[in-house]
Amino acid sequence: MRVLVTGGDGFIGQYLVNNLLQRGDHVHVLDNNITSTPILIHENLTRVKGDVCDILEILPDYSPNVIVHLASVAIPKLYMEQPDLVIRPNVFGTHEVCKLAEKYSARIIFASSSEVYGSIIDDSAIGTAISESDSSISSLLSARTPYSTAKKMGEEIIRSFTQKGHSACSVRLFNVVGPNMDSAVIGYGRVIPNFVESIRELRPLTIYGNGEQTRCFLWIEDAVTALVNLIDYGGELPDAINVGHPQQISILSLANKFQEFSNADVGIIFSPKLPDEPKHRCPDISLAISMLNWRPTVDLDEIIYRVLDEG
Ligand code: UDP
Repeated sequence: MRVLVTGGDGFIGQYLVNNLLQRGDHVHVLDNNITSTPILIHENLTRVKGDVCDILEILPDYSPNVIVHLASVAIPKLYMEQPDLVIRPNVFGTHEVCKLAEKYSARIIFASSSEVYGSIIDDSAIGTAISESDSSISSLLSARTPYSTAKKMGEEIIRSFTQKGHSACSVRLFNVVGPNMDSAVIGYGRVIPNFVESIRELRPLTIYGNGEQTRCFLWIEDAVTALVNLIDYGGELPDAINVGHPQQISILSLANKFQEFSNADVGIIFSPKLPDEPKHRCPDISLAISMLNWRPTVDLDEIIYRVLDEG
């Protein structure tokens, strides 16, 4: 199979591309390398550096069977400062990806995000699992709007592509984590790599806000399995599908577990809460279970051991 992976040098991209190469696929990666570094080398891997918005000019004659469109920044602090880093790839880039896919009747798997549910207003102590068809009670106009609306706009562009009879699906990923995340922006990135780095340097863990916010973390290889299942899926794809781990943890408990598991009593520093961030974010994954026969296999404790071991 010929698979084009936009953002293929990024965190999720590298694991996906490696998986596809191992099973014998031919892979093209298109990446601008703003927050990623090309690492993989393989005889069936072709890498092109460039902007996904220019995909038709960059790859005029390449005819993929499937395009996995991952290209985007996903780090809240980064996209709140530079919204263009998410608007361009997810809106204009998705539009161009659809044109290429239309030309070659390729399937598109679009990496959407749990952020499309918005900054869900949920003041309960633990989160309510949200399913694909739920309308969120969320604040639309917020500091995170560039990312959430760019991803939602990307989903709408994908949906209009499928309405023309093509095959595509938006995958709503919930906090995918693993080794070597955010390596280009260490300390500036997301909670898991920040905690790993702090423990390694024996510095206190920084929590934004009071730590009562909860998240669900999905191991990278589980996320990749879901993506590969969607690439191969023989039936009609749904417009959108949640891919995440339903196990919730507060950020304060996460910080405590990191200290306990590493035997490093580094302490915690509380910093001001990031603007408009969702208090809870928990996926209902019944669609992924029934449709793809997919379930996450790595639980949170194991995730923490692995990232502490591997980076
Ligand atoms: N967070 C934190 N310390 C950090 C990085 C993040 O307390 O060093 C918090 C962040 O405010 C959020 C949660 O951890 O409540 C998850 O943040 P992340 O950026 O990993 O993902 P998000 O779910 O916000 O996209």
